[in-house]
Amino acid sequence: MNPIPLHAANPGPITGAGNWTYLVPGAEPLLIDAGVGNGEHLEAIAAAVPEGPARVIVSHAHSDHASGAPALAARWPSAGCAKFPWPEEDARWGVRWEPLADGARIATGEGDLEVVHTPGHAPDHVVLWHASSRTLFGADLLQVGNTVAIPASKGGDLAAYLRSLKRVQALAPARVLPAHGPVIEDPLALIDHYLAHRHHREVQILTALEGGLDTVDAIAARIYTGLDLKLCPLARENVLAHLVKLEHDGLVARRDGARWQLVT
Ligand SMILES: [Zn+2]
Repeated sequence: MNPIPLHAANPGPITGAGNWTYLVPGAEPLLIDAGVGNGEHLEAIAAAVPEGPARVIVSHAHSDHASGAPALAARWPSAGCAKFPWPEEDARWGVRWEPLADGARIATGEGDLEVVHTPGHAPDHVVLWHASSRTLFGADLLQVGNTVAIPASKGGDLAAYLRSLKRVQALAPARVLPAHGPVIEDPLALIDHYLAHRHHREVQILTALEGGLDTVDAIAARIYTGLDLKLCPLARENVLAHLVKLEHDGLVARRDGARWQLVT
């Protein structure tokens, strides 16, 4: 599996250097993720496949992955856009999405890809698995040098994310091509690190609750010392994601909607 990495040319505080999209060439070229419709990205796609992609698979509805779909559809009207449904969000992008299901197979010039539904970062998140080369197109599931945001008040679900990591761990990918950052050459080590990190955070949050901190803000300030303020909303969302998981686990309870306490 040797896709052509094409940068979406969208650097920013949340996307870092910007997003990678991947073009799998062949009789029916496949583009994985739509980017944001930046002109440089469209020209790079046109240079690689002048006739345009036959199909665009979008990993999830977040704007850095999906918002380029209308620009692609306008330039190459025959390109079909597909994604796993997230009805509340999908309508934003003004294209007709062909619905993808878990387990669906997508033919490419380099053999079939299998759709693997991996919710957690977003409810509609999918990765694409190329079994013969053990290559995974990982979208926002994994990223070198960073953990992944779980926006708990907007579709993020930490328990689902941990299940998704374990599902991908069981596939034992040899390499992961992510939407952000460099190719992940040792994905199983990164997954181990992620699982240990989330466990560590959970212990920190339980300790903070034990110490009498009872709001998301107070807990975030305690455990994310020295954090870039621009990323603070994401830090709060991650703390909330942990609290919601712990609530489901029966370890913490919510009072007055926004105050949290240990279940004793
Ligand atoms: Zn995302």
